Amino acid sequence: MASRPPIALDVHAGDVRPLKTAEVVARRIVQAILDDGLGSGAQLPAEARMMELYDVSRESLREALRLLEVQGFIVIRRGPGGGPVVGSVDPAAFARMASMYFQMAGVTYDELYAAWSSAEVLLAELAARHPDAARRAELMAPFQVEGPLDQTSPMVEHADLHAALAALTGNRALEISMQLFSQIVTHHGVSETDAEGRAMVFEDHAELAGAVRGGHPQLARKLMEGHCERVVERMRMRTDTAGDRIVAWL
Ligand SMILES: [Zn+2]
Repeated sequence: MASRPPIALDVHAGDVRPLKTAEVVARRIVQAILDDGLGSGAQLPAEARMMELYDVSRESLREALRLLEVQGFIVIRRGPGGGPVVGSVDPAAFARMASMYFQMAGVTYDELYAAWSSAEVLLAELAARHPDAARRAELMAPFQVEGPLDQTSPMVEHADLHAALAALTGNRALEISMQLFSQIVTHHGVSETDAEGRAMVFEDHAELAGAVRGGHPQLARKLMEGHCERVVERMRMRTDTAGDRIVAWL
């Protein structure tokens, strides 16, 4: 298969394009959600009311809602009694968007794996440095278990442990941005893990959880390096996630 040239990175292209009406309205809706203190699941005004509030056409309003829906910030319930409700800040949605950028730019899985490993090592160290031992214990305890739990899929376990480490950094900018790598890796990789890989993931996670819980940053780094190497080694052996392949849009 002939490889296609990636689309060029252009750091200035986005600076000059003015926002479209729908993008402006989307920002106003987000601001209103924050100003009104609405939480996940809260109902937003009906379409007719929002057209009045924002003084826009149905078309522009729907485009604005669609922009927010793609990011997971709102959920649009179809049918009678439906309408837009507040969604969540989902690192998986952020990862989905990032994977599109990676694909367009021709990012390879090896580049993703290196970025993921760097991010995870940093997150593991910062998590172990979290000053509140009780909080570390609370978030790490679910992963300090003997052997794989039958009811937990490796994909869920993998996403959960790495998300818990990111949460322990105490920095939401890091928590959201650094997780995009683990989200993509988890989505592409761990879902098809066999029994051996499954056991490896659970054992690694239990050890990592112990190091973070005990407050050992250097050990947490080292264990995470090893964990990432083992996961990557398995992913590289598969044809769809081989190192020289281009990352697929989730
Ligand atoms: Zn893991």
